Amino acid sequence: MRVYNFSAGPSMLPESVLAKAASEMLDYNGSGQSVMEMSHRSRVYEEIINGCESVLREVLSIPDNYKVLFLQGGASSQFSMIPLNLMNGSGKADFVISGMWAKKAYAEASRYGSCKAVASSADKTFTYIPKLDPDTFTKDADYFHICHNNTIYGTRFTELPDTGNVPLVADMSSDILSAPIDVSKFGLIYAGAQKNMGPAGLTVVIIREDLIGHARDITPTMMDYKIHAENGSMYNTPPCYSIYICKLVLEWLRDEIGGLEKMKELNERKAGILYSFLDSSSMFKGTVEKADRSLMNIPFVTGNEELDKKFCKQSEAAGFVNLKGHRSVGGMRASIYNAMPEQGLKDLVAFMKKFEEENK
Ligand SMILES: *Cc1c(COP(=O)(O)O)cnc(C)c1O
Repeated sequence: MRVYNFSAGPSMLPESVLAKAASEMLDYNGSGQSVMEMSHRSRVYEEIINGCESVLREVLSIPDNYKVLFLQGGASSQFSMIPLNLMNGSGKADFVISGMWAKKAYAEASRYGSCKAVASSADKTFTYIPKLDPDTFTKDADYFHICHNNTIYGTRFTELPDTGNVPLVADMSSDILSAPIDVSKFGLIYAGAQKNMGPAGLTVVIIREDLIGHARDITPTMMDYKIHAENGSMYNTPPCYSIYICKLVLEWLRDEIGGLEKMKELNERKAGILYSFLDSSSMFKGTVEKADRSLMNIPFVTGNEELDKKFCKQSEAAGFVNLKGHRSVGGMRASIYNAMPEQGLKDLVAFMKKFEEENK
């Protein structure tokens, strides 16, 4: 039996993608080999990586003046790669501290330049997105960084800051491809693939071309966007298999779901099922401001640690796995990325109702 996996990442993949990958495991498209075995310089693999990029461009409507890079090292490596490549003018950058990942990006960039936290929601354990005042933004900053969806705390930006000419940089690890976005509003978007795009090992960077080619002299070759852009993400061996699965996920999103507008509708419906239950339950409560609620990560608590523990144990046994909350929030967290079926939410809520009834 397949379980409903509510992990924050790595997370579920669409079943049809897994079935396709399985059917192609021993012999990809008549090549007589698995995608894992083939040379990344072969014609057959070139079609896979180029195909992945072109479906991504199509699904996200990425403008022509943006490069797509398939990298490694996780979103965490971008915390240093971004300042090494972008902090090349005033040496300043602005950050919104909306959670743990935003804080890590800020701390890492502070090793390379002068970083300013223009707003923070640390005062209330990151349960909301702080209001921003453009007057406090650094006018000559080299970039302005946000974490678009806060995976641990379950909040998301619903409105982008107006940063004028300062490039907006967004960590979208946990909500890329969950809804349409206007890529042209960003200088750089980055995401670890293991939440909404495919397996771990692949990091996707979407970067405006004019931001490439200004890395500091000390930048390691492998950390220079220019090197990867000039070599079509093939300067060294790319994460071949993860890129292949990412391509299948993108094709699923385009052909089976019907694109990002449809994906957004589906995600709103899925999240709505759990949120409306949390709002009506007398046992379970959501932990964040309603206006800032994430569609992807939904933390909730009972208010009683023993009961939380009991719930995690019983839900796990019933096939709802990885609902335990992040250690910094406690309670539970349901991560419901694109591949989580709507039925998973219906079944989870039915289970929660039953649990509430039995533990009054
Ligand atoms: C998971 C996550 C990260 C870390 O990703 P890695 O690929 O493990 O480095 C960074 N930012 C956000 C928003 C995340 O959700």
